Amino acid sequence: MIDLLVIGGGPGGYVAAIRASQFGLEVILVEKDNLGGTCLNRGCIPTKAYFQNAKALRTMQNSQEFSISLDNLRFDMAAAKRRKDKIVANLATGVKRLLHSNKIKVISGEARLVDAKTVLVNGEEVQAKNIIIASGSKPTLLPIKGIESDKVLTSDEINDITTVPEKLVIIGAGVIGLEYANIFNTFGSRVTLIESMPLVLNYLDTELSKRMAIFLKRQGIDLHTSTLVEEIIAAGENLIVKAAGKKGDMEVSADIVLVASGRSAQTDNLGLDRLGIKTENGFIQVNENYETNLKNIYAIGDVIGDPMLAHVASEEGIAVAERIAGHSGPNINYNAVPSCIFTFPEIAVVGMGEEEAKAKGINYQVGKYPFSANGKAMTMGETDGMVKVLADENGFIIGVHIIGPHASDLILEGIVLVKNRLNTKEIKGTIHPHPTLGEAIAEAILDIDNQAIHLNPKTK
Ligand code: FAD
Repeated sequence: MIDLLVIGGGPGGYVAAIRASQFGLEVILVEKDNLGGTCLNRGCIPTKAYFQNAKALRTMQNSQEFSISLDNLRFDMAAAKRRKDKIVANLATGVKRLLHSNKIKVISGEARLVDAKTVLVNGEEVQAKNIIIASGSKPTLLPIKGIESDKVLTSDEINDITTVPEKLVIIGAGVIGLEYANIFNTFGSRVTLIESMPLVLNYLDTELSKRMAIFLKRQGIDLHTSTLVEEIIAAGENLIVKAAGKKGDMEVSADIVLVASGRSAQTDNLGLDRLGIKTENGFIQVNENYETNLKNIYAIGDVIGDPMLAHVASEEGIAVAERIAGHSGPNINYNAVPSCIFTFPEIAVVGMGEEEAKAKGINYQVGKYPFSANGKAMTMGETDGMVKVLADENGFIIGVHIIGPHASDLILEGIVLVKNRLNTKEIKGTIHPHPTLGEAIAEAILDIDNQAIHLNPKTK
């Protein structure tokens, strides 16, 4: 009997396997598809590869800003896909090598639980003292008439198209919908974004959601919030998307429809019901040690629900592996989980927004600083957005929210502030180099006490 069997080779499963092996445990990892999971093959990496194509294209389209004339710009989607595939393949090889060099046996096949210590894979039973389920998630398909059309794609499929759709309708203005809206809008698609909620990215601090909606519209993305898609109808080569919104019924033509309306747990054929493993809305229920209601069967990552992020899956993998090896794993602070959205401009947040602080009855204070007042942002020609920092009544930082250039890099400072509950008094005097985008964070913190230097009090 081996020490640990891991089901799923995504960022949750393969990281758990490596950490367990570092403690000397005998580990087998079972993966039914490609190592790297959703993140590497269909999620984080493909979208960020295309985001970089779009970013380069935007810089070139905006070349006059930098006194450069460019003619005949052409974007080649098939070549971009080849680039994406190469990056994915390189990283997948890296994961395979890591597992191999950590002496982890990888079995290619679908795992099914037989009992609390036995897993069936490729017709053979493997016995393990501990099992980690890291089987991830899959796109949720809404019950919309006509959704079965082969021109209706999910995020799993849109990464592999080789021509830019002329007209793209995206259902869902969450993180995934917004990232693709920005990417394909830059590639040249006419993008219509339809969202049932009143706001895009409705889980964010409302001020950021509202600003993002303005930026989307300014880029030419046709955004319809509070609008429900009712039917998708085939019309020759195209599709007609029928929806009902604030302004009445609407019809939009599309060559492709992307459904980005959320994700569900991937637990098909795992045998959860037979073993009586508890789920809620399909997501596996775990205790504070990530243990299911069956002893020694653990679950981590997307399959246990929000926050569905690669870095959360990995951190949970490390925590469980350490516990199984008899060590106390990291105590994950879910209040300090960063989340990045790769749009134009980027968004990155950690900690509480205003609505959450209000709901928790916190007497919070806010400091803000716009990138339009930041010298580095001006030199980059990227002055859209701001940094917003929330502190509680005693000055402890409880949230950092950035919408602007390189937000995904800048948030690292915010994570340290929120995770360690640093106080504005302690932070003041932390020297930020000039000229950098990070100065906007320093100024936003100073603004909490109305001490920002490069901010005209009259324009606040
Ligand atoms: P997964 O990565 O889904 O891996 C699960 C693995 O288990 C899969 O490989 C699957 O084949 C395998 N499996 C399932 N069932 C079985 C079985 N019975 N037997 C064997 N193997 C099985 N997160 C970020 O942090 N940053 C981002 O920028 C980001 N961008 C994203 C963009 C998109 C378009 C999408 C869809 C997601 C994105 N995510 C991002 C989310 C991220 O991909 C997930 O949070 C992460 O992959 C979850 O990791 P996981 O290990 O829990 O599951």
